[in-house]
Amino acid sequence: MNACCTVPIKEIAANQHKPDGECCLIEQTRAPAKANCPVSKTSSRKINRRTLEHLLKPDSVNKIQNVQHYYCDDPTCDVVYFSEQALPYFTKDDLTVKVFHKDTDDDVNVCYCFDWTRGRIKAEIRSTGQSTASLEIAQQVRDQKCTCDITNPKGRCCLGDVNGVVKEVKQQLNL
Ligand SMILES: [Zn+2]
Repeated sequence: MNACCTVPIKEIAANQHKPDGECCLIEQTRAPAKANCPVSKTSSRKINRRTLEHLLKPDSVNKIQNVQHYYCDDPTCDVVYFSEQALPYFTKDDLTVKVFHKDTDDDVNVCYCFDWTRGRIKAEIRSTGQSTASLEIAQQVRDQKCTCDITNPKGRCCLGDVNGVVKEVKQQLNL
């Protein structure tokens, strides 16, 4: 059973079920836990191969090598996935979705499993003063319906990002 299932919904919603949403399994390989992005030098965490297979455009999927890949979350860097071999690395243009950490538009998903975009979160807060996003997502996590490991470019739970956006929007609106 997924460890998230024993945690109260409110704690899941606050992203306290596992530190930084690590409910999504990360493959154990001998590769180092972190590696530096070849462009921005950002220290980056491992990402599962199946996340790349799910999110890269078909031409790019064919270029995935049989090595450990890492996810660069630097907002100013175009690289999304890379390995310790210099090439190939994959940039924003190689993905079929916009990457939350690297694109600030309203149509960008914060939660990729249940389609919460920045715009949807903003619209709800503007009209009700609150966001139901994290509680709704927490319920889905509890029901084991979340598939962050393949739908979210960072390959893990979105709740930290959702809570961050909610906080940011409330501050902008002085709520
Ligand atoms: Zn980078």
